[in-house]
Amino acid sequence: MTRAGPLSLNTVTVRPLTLAQTIEACARHGIPGISPWRDVLQAMGVDKAARHIRDAGLKVTGLCRGGMFTAGSRAAALDENRRAIAEAHAIGADCLVMVCGGLPAGSKDLPAAREIVREGLHAILPEARAAGVTLALEPLHPMTCADRSVLSTLGQALDLCDELGEGAGVAVDVYHVWWDPDLARQMARAKGRIAGFHVCDWKVPTTDLVFDRGLPGEGVIDIPAIRAMAAAAGWTGGVEVEILSNHWWSQDPEAVIREVKSRHAFC
Ligand code: ZN
Repeated sequence: MTRAGPLSLNTVTVRPLTLAQTIEACARHGIPGISPWRDVLQAMGVDKAARHIRDAGLKVTGLCRGGMFTAGSRAAALDENRRAIAEAHAIGADCLVMVCGGLPAGSKDLPAAREIVREGLHAILPEARAAGVTLALEPLHPMTCADRSVLSTLGQALDLCDELGEGAGVAVDVYHVWWDPDLARQMARAKGRIAGFHVCDWKVPTTDLVFDRGLPGEGVIDIPAIRAMAAAAGWTGGVEVEILSNHWWSQDPEAVIREVKSRHAFC
């Protein structure tokens, strides 16, 4: 079994902390990577954050997130994505993670929502290419299809990558893809196109569709098996720990970081 790649801390995992505190904690704990969400990045200020991240010697494995093409007006969504691309470029992020959006409010037209996403990706791709920012399409578990992402499977994401070409890749989050009977075949197909690898775990029973993720080893996902598929597909990047969890957010962030480090072994 290949060893897990270097650890990266997604800032949502330690949500009570500011970005400045998270950068400091990564440096102090010897965690080499970080992946900020835009809210904490903007709260700190993009230029200042970029400086602090650089000074701490951290690799930015991604910026969370762009997408949400189906919420509100097309022009506003595209503007927001263009700002996200500029922020990703400013902090030297490996990719902009794309959570593409669910059904528009009041709509039952799923094919139309998918078309809005497809068209939106095409519209922002030139800016992403010019900025050298990979758009990492993150398929989300189908339970989020209505409100977060009509992009539900890795196969669907790779079909879009085929169409978009240079500048597009996929973010593989084990929480969202572990159940897929076609996963092994699609991971092989993802060769050279994996732009991010996110880990957490699926608890049984899971008590919240979004905010009850487990740390690696707390649930039923065979993370090393999926990571081995990613390695076979040429992925040599980091393992980004992304835990959206009411439980872990209620704990001392220092203790959560220590747990994250020890759970790296389960990846
Ligand atoms: Zn993710």
